[in-house]
Amino acid sequence: MQIEELFRIALGLESPWRVARVQFTEEAQRLELWLDFPAGSRFACPECGQRLCGAYDTTERTWRHLNFFQHATLLHARLPRVECPEHGVKIVAVPWARSQVGFTLLMEAYILLLVQSGMTPRQVARLIGEHDTRIWRLVRHYVEEARARADFSAVRSVGVDETSRARGHDYITVFLDLEGAERGRVLYACEGKEADTVRQFAEDFVAHGGVVEQVSEVCADMSRAYIKGVAENLPQAALTFDRFHIMKLVNEAVDEVRRQEAAERPELKGTRYLWLKNPENFTAHQEAQFEQVKRLRCRTQRAWFLKSVLQDIYRWESRENGAKLMKAWCAWATHSRLAPMVEVSRTLRRHWAGVVRWFESRITNGIVEAFNGLIQAAKRRARGFRTTANLVTMIYLLFGKLDLNIPAPLR
Ligand SMILES: [Zn+2]
Repeated sequence: MQIEELFRIALGLESPWRVARVQFTEEAQRLELWLDFPAGSRFACPECGQRLCGAYDTTERTWRHLNFFQHATLLHARLPRVECPEHGVKIVAVPWARSQVGFTLLMEAYILLLVQSGMTPRQVARLIGEHDTRIWRLVRHYVEEARARADFSAVRSVGVDETSRARGHDYITVFLDLEGAERGRVLYACEGKEADTVRQFAEDFVAHGGVVEQVSEVCADMSRAYIKGVAENLPQAALTFDRFHIMKLVNEAVDEVRRQEAAERPELKGTRYLWLKNPENFTAHQEAQFEQVKRLRCRTQRAWFLKSVLQDIYRWESRENGAKLMKAWCAWATHSRLAPMVEVSRTLRRHWAGVVRWFESRITNGIVEAFNGLIQAAKRRARGFRTTANLVTMIYLLFGKLDLNIPAPLR
């Protein structure tokens, strides 16, 4: 068997395509294949697929294929343009490539597989010896195509949360589906954390078959921007204030009480983590340490106790008494003479309806933690995302539950 015929079979090429020439360049460590078709071949119009047309002229193209052992492999071909009586002059579709990015289907499938299993496009680029902008173009191409097909018509419950690329910089607002089979999927992500992000979401939501009036529950933090954005753009939705954000406020208050008190009680030095960590996760040493500091009968301990009780209230299963318990907690915090706790209580009372909505809706945005994990990992990998737009693409890729329609051979 001739080497050209061997490669034709390996690539799965069918008539009229054949491998015309194979060349291996040792210095460049590169294998190149020229694909061609016999003169007079007829091709289907890429639009209608039915009419067979003769080649009208050709245009040169190159694709990067899977490596041949350690050697980069390039395919070259003259792509015929055909003139369909109905659709005009079109470049024919070829069986080995799909997007315009210049990779073969197998290479695309391989790259997507690597990116989906947690490598950043920059790492993939290094691995295969490509520039990372081409990898990003490919990922964006597949993500955009898959998002165009996404269907939001069944969505009723939405979570809104923000995450930042660097501490306090480049905010990204993420909208999640909080219910049903697609629970946890990212519906939309965009730059910023203003009320306008909710308007942008609503617009994109409708474009994907979503029904704004059907969204009956939204989970968010207590920021004015989201409250305003939801009121204006998702008018039928009841707001639930995310319990993880509320617990975060309470934890910050405990820490503030400890910081103030440590000035007069040196025994509190070095105990910060004890008051913030969940005692269920203590080591034996920390447990013993905590028993010691609890004997101090300090203000920090009272603040910590308030926090523990609120945690228990959030574990309360009954719908009926939840609001009552929450009210009792707020009254207790208000009279605690611990200024940071009094402040938390005031904040909760100002946002009362959304605070107690939790006992009905039971929705949280806990899953956004996964994005923060992704962002931290990207930072460790030498700022793998570079731009906010790239990070949004990765969030869709990893958390959008998109049907990427990855080329079949590796699916
Ligand atoms: Zn046609």
